[in-house]
Amino acid sequence: MSEQGTPDVNEAWSSARSAALYQIDGWGEPYFSVNAQGHVEVRPDPRLDRRIDLYELVHDLKERGLAMPLLIRFSDILADRIRRLNEAFAKAIVEYDYAGTYQGVYPVKVNQQRHVVEEIVEYGRPWNFGLEAGSKPELLIALAASQDPGGLIICNGYKDDQYIETAILAKGFDKKVVIVLERLEELDIAFKAAEKLGIRPLLGVRGKLTAKGVGRWADSAGDRAKFGLTATEIVEVVDRLQERGMLDCLQLLHFHIGSQISSIRPIKTAMREATHIFVELARMGAPMTYLDVGGGLAVDYDGSKTDFHASRNYDIQEYAYDVVHAIGEACKDANLPVPTIVSESGRAVVAHQSVLVFEVVGVSEFPIRAAVPPPPGSNKVLRDLYDACMGATAANMQETWHDASQAKEEAFTLFKLGYLTLRERAEVERLFWACCGRLLELVRGMKTVPEELQDLERVVAAIYYCNFSVFQSAPDSWAIDQLFPVMPIHRLNETPTKRATLADLTCDSDGCIDKFIDVQDVKHVLELHKWDPAQPYYLGIFLNGAYQEILGDLHNLFGDTNAVHVQLGREGYHVAHVVKGDSISEVLHYVQYNPEAMVESVRRQAERALRSGHITLPQVRMLIRHYEDSLSSYTYLTDDE
Ligand SMILES: *Cc1c(COP(=O)(O)O)cnc(C)c1O
Repeated sequence: MSEQGTPDVNEAWSSARSAALYQIDGWGEPYFSVNAQGHVEVRPDPRLDRRIDLYELVHDLKERGLAMPLLIRFSDILADRIRRLNEAFAKAIVEYDYAGTYQGVYPVKVNQQRHVVEEIVEYGRPWNFGLEAGSKPELLIALAASQDPGGLIICNGYKDDQYIETAILAKGFDKKVVIVLERLEELDIAFKAAEKLGIRPLLGVRGKLTAKGVGRWADSAGDRAKFGLTATEIVEVVDRLQERGMLDCLQLLHFHIGSQISSIRPIKTAMREATHIFVELARMGAPMTYLDVGGGLAVDYDGSKTDFHASRNYDIQEYAYDVVHAIGEACKDANLPVPTIVSESGRAVVAHQSVLVFEVVGVSEFPIRAAVPPPPGSNKVLRDLYDACMGATAANMQETWHDASQAKEEAFTLFKLGYLTLRERAEVERLFWACCGRLLELVRGMKTVPEELQDLERVVAAIYYCNFSVFQSAPDSWAIDQLFPVMPIHRLNETPTKRATLADLTCDSDGCIDKFIDVQDVKHVLELHKWDPAQPYYLGIFLNGAYQEILGDLHNLFGDTNAVHVQLGREGYHVAHVVKGDSISEVLHYVQYNPEAMVESVRRQAERALRSGHITLPQVRMLIRHYEDSLSSYTYLTDDE
């Protein structure tokens, strides 16, 4: 029989077949593709025919001493995302003859890294793109980062006196800082602060819509939502503002029905409800100038263009059309001037720009070889397994699977009872794998696979051990089963003969990736190339610029990875920023260790061992050197060079 999982060796493999296999056209367009060399290619600015070979880039970065895992951010992709979003709204505004403008804000929580936020501010300047803060620390970022009075700063989240006073004061230096009331209590704080400071605040209300999103974040709206004011509360806000002669401060309505809204339906429904509230607020006398439609604009992680949770059944342009149209119509019907449209799209802005690249450091495979007849006199169970394996055909696959599984169970029981030697048990394992291999060959040739056998690929899949931590670099893959496109970044003109799941460096069994994008639903194994320990083999996790970095944690003390910003230059590219990942001593500080004291402690113990003759002086020296060098090194595996 052939080597495990060798699909149609007769047919030549090609970059195009890899592109189809990993669906890169679906999720990668227009930024990522496969080139003729079989490498992933990046086109950071799709308006230009300028391409960066990702494999060569990685090689280049390694030459500069940047160790894997490496997070590569393409600044031009970020610029393009911002441009796309703004141009989509501009186009919708022209087409629907909308008399107002669009002024988006970037929700800082989605990726707070300084260089990312600074680039967003810079690239967003032509459109007065602003920032949204969901907490006091994020407000501080927003105030420092937005040098431009043109953009809005929207303040969401729980707020205390200091948060609100800071926001009101910042309005004083010419910024449009809007305080969005999420809870009724915040109105009292705002009153108190406005009085104390003698500055009139710019206020908004967050409506608690009954319209819900879909999927994981559906509960961001609805009666039980954590944030937002009910109709009763909104009316109370209006009345109390009116009493104080401050109704002119209320200028914005905000809502947010969740993230990654994969279907356009709930967006349209929410728009209808929100525009209605907006119109009512205006009718009650508030000078409503902004309608903020929140986040939720989804990313097509699997490239299927469906309403599956990893995808979306609409695009940015359709989203912009629907938002602009809904607001325009509602205002026309109510005979009201149209507001400035604000959206807080985070994921759709930052997801595409970063790619995490890491290398495979080891592979474990079940040894699938052709079945060898058991020697005469072996236990009957071995014979049964062998016969099942040899007799497998497309017609009796299910029966073969049952027989083989049963024989294996039986053999393990016999072993426990002492009727089978360890060698015989090993032989049972080998026969069972041979049987799986035989069945797999049959299964792969079929269009529809019997349900019980669908799991076979996963049962026999290889495990590729990779130099990264899921918990640090793709936490949503672990926490909420989010799918990210994962694929090799080179060798794409070679047949991927293996099927595997990925395991990370942590010693946690959850530290693995075993769900991958598929045209249909999800697949449990990823097609990969045969690993050669002498050659680096690089994989990339794509579209992971949103949420992953900040949600990443220090499980097993694997820290932040190295990160670089790559920008297109006049010719080729240049590395604009290098953000060094955590060293071991930095992560130790997070958990309150003092690395110097640790060295001292080890040195004292070594001295003691030296005195009692358990260790030699050169050994002491070597131990201390390793200990000290490790403290200043990267937390991931590094090859000594
Ligand atoms: C998280 C959040 C966003 C960003 O949502 P995306 O789906 O990433 O665009 C926007 N607004 C608010 C209030 C949020 O909480």
